[in-house]
Amino acid sequence: MNGNLRVGSLFGIPFYVNVSWFVVLGLVTWDYGQQLGFVFPQLGGVAWLFGLVAALMLFASVLAHELGHSFVALRQGIPVNSITLFLFGGLASLEEESKTPSEAFWVAIAGPLVSLFLFGAFTAIHIFAGLTGPIAAIVNLLAAINLALAAFNLLPGLPLDGGNVLKALVWKMTGKPYKGIAVASQVGQFLGWVGVGLGLLSVFGISHVGSVWTLLVGWFLLQNAGRYGQAAMVQEQLSGLKAADAVIPNSPIVPADISLREFANNYVIGNPANWRNYLVIDEAGQLIGEIATDAMKKVPTNDWWDIQVRELMQPATKLETVDSEKPLLEVVNLLEREQLPALVVLNDRKMILGLLEKTSIIQLLQKRAQARLA
Ligand SMILES: [Zn+2]
Repeated sequence: MNGNLRVGSLFGIPFYVNVSWFVVLGLVTWDYGQQLGFVFPQLGGVAWLFGLVAALMLFASVLAHELGHSFVALRQGIPVNSITLFLFGGLASLEEESKTPSEAFWVAIAGPLVSLFLFGAFTAIHIFAGLTGPIAAIVNLLAAINLALAAFNLLPGLPLDGGNVLKALVWKMTGKPYKGIAVASQVGQFLGWVGVGLGLLSVFGISHVGSVWTLLVGWFLLQNAGRYGQAAMVQEQLSGLKAADAVIPNSPIVPADISLREFANNYVIGNPANWRNYLVIDEAGQLIGEIATDAMKKVPTNDWWDIQVRELMQPATKLETVDSEKPLLEVVNLLEREQLPALVVLNDRKMILGLLEKTSIIQLLQKRAQARLA
C-alpha cells in the first residue's frame, strides 16, 4: 500500500502506519476534545489533550486486534509480513493462508476476540474502579470503541473477519476453500451495497441512518469483496489441475549432442514461437544448460556442422524447477510470489517435460472454458 510509514516493529513484525491514519487521529482528537470540553468546561485546553489520548487509545485498540490475528497465525507457523493501520482500521498481512478450515477460523476470530476482551476489561474498570469525570468518559469510550470494532469486524462478509469466519465454515462443510471465499465475498459485496445505499440516503438527507463514512466503508467493502470473488473464481478453475497440464506444447528444448546446423534447421528456423533461449538436455532428458539463439551468430555458418549445442551452452542458473504433479494453484502462487517469468517442469525422474509460463496457464484456462461452452 502506498503512503505507509514504518514506525518500528512489534514482536518482530514490521509495523506501518498509513498517512491516512493521521486524518483519523486529527478528527478523533478534534471531535472528542470538543465533546469533553463541552461536558467538562473546567478542563479548558486540557480537553484536547484528553482527546488526543482517546485517539491514541483507539489506535492501540486496533493494533491489539491485529496482534490477535498475528499471534494465532504465528502459532500456526505462518509468518506475518507486516501490520498496517490505515483509514478504515488495521491489516495484518500474512505470508500464506491457513492450511485447514479450523486454523483459518481461529486466525479470523482472534482479532474480534481481543476486541471483545478489551470491551469487557474497560467495562469492568469503569464499574469497579469507581471512576468519575473525564477519565470515566474516556474509559467508557474505549469500551464502546472495542465493542464496535468487534461487532463491525464480525459482519459475515469478506474482507471483514466475519467473512473469513464464514469462509472457514463453508470450507469445512464443502471441503473446498474457494467455495468459502465465493460465498463470503458475495455477502461482502451485499454488505458493501447496503453501506453505499445507506450512505447515499444519508448524504442526500433522506435517512438519518448512516453517514459519509458508511458510504466510504461500503465502497471499500465492495472493492475488496469483489477482488476476493475473482480470486475464488480463478482458484476454482485451477482446482484439480497440475503443473504438467500447463506445460507449453513444443517447449524450447534441444539435445546437447546435435550440431548447431541441426539445431538451426530443426528447431529455430520457421519456429513460429521465435524462442530466444532453448533449454539444453542430455541423453537422460536432464537439464544441463541453456543456449541463446543469438550466441550462434558469433560462429561462422560454415562451422555449424562441426560444433555441438553443448559447446555453446551456458549454465542454466536462473531457472527454477517445479514438480509436474504440483497443483497448478500453488504454481501460480509461486510465480506471483517470486515474480518468475517461467518455470521448468520436471517429472518424477527429474526429466524435463517443458516450460510453463503465466500465459500458458491463461491459455489452458481459456481452452477449458471454451470446451465447457461447446
Ligand atoms: Zn480483524
